[in-house]
Amino acid sequence: MAPARKIVNPADGEVLATVPDQGGAELDRAVDAAAAAFVEWGRTTPAERATALLAMADLLDEHTEELARLESQNVGKPIVAAREENPISSDNLRFFAGAARNLEGRAAGEYARGYTSMVRREPLGVVGQIAPWNYPLQMGVWKIGPALAAGNTIVIKPSELTPLTMLRFAELIAARGILPDGVLNVLTGDGALGEAIVRHPTIRMVSLTGDVGTGKAVARAAADTLKRVHLELGGKAPAVVLDDADLAAVAAGIRTAGFYNSGQDCTAASRVIAAEAVHDDLVEALVGEVGAIEVGDPASAESIEMGPLVAARQQQRVISFLERAKGAGAAVVLGGGTPDGPGAFVEPTVVTGVAQDAEIVQKEVFGPVVTVQRTSSDAEAIALANDVPYGLAASVWTRDVGRAMAASRDLEFGTVWVNDHLPFMSEMPHGGIKESGYGKDMSIYSVEEYTTIKHVMVNLA
Ligand code: NAD
Repeated sequence: MAPARKIVNPADGEVLATVPDQGGAELDRAVDAAAAAFVEWGRTTPAERATALLAMADLLDEHTEELARLESQNVGKPIVAAREENPISSDNLRFFAGAARNLEGRAAGEYARGYTSMVRREPLGVVGQIAPWNYPLQMGVWKIGPALAAGNTIVIKPSELTPLTMLRFAELIAARGILPDGVLNVLTGDGALGEAIVRHPTIRMVSLTGDVGTGKAVARAAADTLKRVHLELGGKAPAVVLDDADLAAVAAGIRTAGFYNSGQDCTAASRVIAAEAVHDDLVEALVGEVGAIEVGDPASAESIEMGPLVAARQQQRVISFLERAKGAGAAVVLGGGTPDGPGAFVEPTVVTGVAQDAEIVQKEVFGPVVTVQRTSSDAEAIALANDVPYGLAASVWTRDVGRAMAASRDLEFGTVWVNDHLPFMSEMPHGGIKESGYGKDMSIYSVEEYTTIKHVMVNLA
């Protein structure tokens, strides 16, 4: 029998559940089930798949409070945030239902005399999916939605820290009989199981959302079977604040975009790059906004805006980043500590006086920490924004549409927001460039990534 793993509430250390640590034998069984199910599921009509996805969306809505509470307990996320995320996830599923019916190829026709050529867009087969811990249910939906819409069958592994909402959602889907047996398989385990998924010869594609280092390991391991790889990795998003920006709006925006989910967000606004003329006023406004964030155990009050980090290990990681930053001369102008008592908490933190090559500017902290840098021109601000290995998301704050458009062109990131930071919607793609990976989530582009195109050429003679 597979060894067990305790799943813990990071706000108080309470054990919420025990799940098996599954390995090769369970993976083989799941892949066999998915491969057998693909024979029929791969031939369903778009309308049939859309019907299943719409039923999944309705099911998520019906159980939204239960799933939000479970997500809140497992991730340490404020209940209000968990409640807000679920309707977005069900909307994502409804989008994928529509997208299933809108896949396109180019025209069929006679490209050689005497032959008709056409393109068939087909599912890949069994796909492997590996999810992170920060938005366990939503990241699960971003993976299973497009894969199912395109007609694939799935083996998905949630994070070993936060598997509970994906497991519960899959259990609900199975109990209602929405998907045929074997179409959706959820396995629990850590990176060793993830690597086994990547190496499995029957699996045709692997999709990972996770750390850059994990993405590189996955790409290397996938090379042995030449699997298609879809990587949504880390970020270090800049918020570029030009000298004409509305500073109150920036400070309020960063309060959300830098600290939502305790900053454990790949698109978190973690680097504020402010024009010299507004730097000091912005720091003052930011300290006022961020200092007002209500931090605590999400179970203690509905008004809690920020909970703990996902685990004590993550708390230690963030604190050691701050220690090294202070050692390198940075000033912690707000927070920086861990409150007394249980739970993996870190105070909302603002750091100034950081050099561009400082570790805290160059590396993803994945915690409630925002740095502020000063710049003397738009061009320098863009250069600093681009000067990191990541390229997932960025924002620019200005009242001038021309400067906003120029910045949108020059920022080397997969998403650029103007005068906001963080919102997204089902129709638009999410995904990075550079070391933030390749492949898109959401949007029709994500569904296309779970398909292959085949040329069929018919001799007319
Ligand atoms: P992680 O890389 O530690 O783990 C992600 C998943 O990969 C887990 O399920 C883990 O078990 C698995 N894994 C670990 N080692 C593996 C290996 N060698 N082979 C296969 N699978 C392996 O990431 P995390 O700590 O869970 O999540 C945080 C990271 O995810 C951050 O870097 C964050 O920026 C990133 N993230 C990115 C996006 C995005 O859309 N780009 C979204 C959310 C999170």
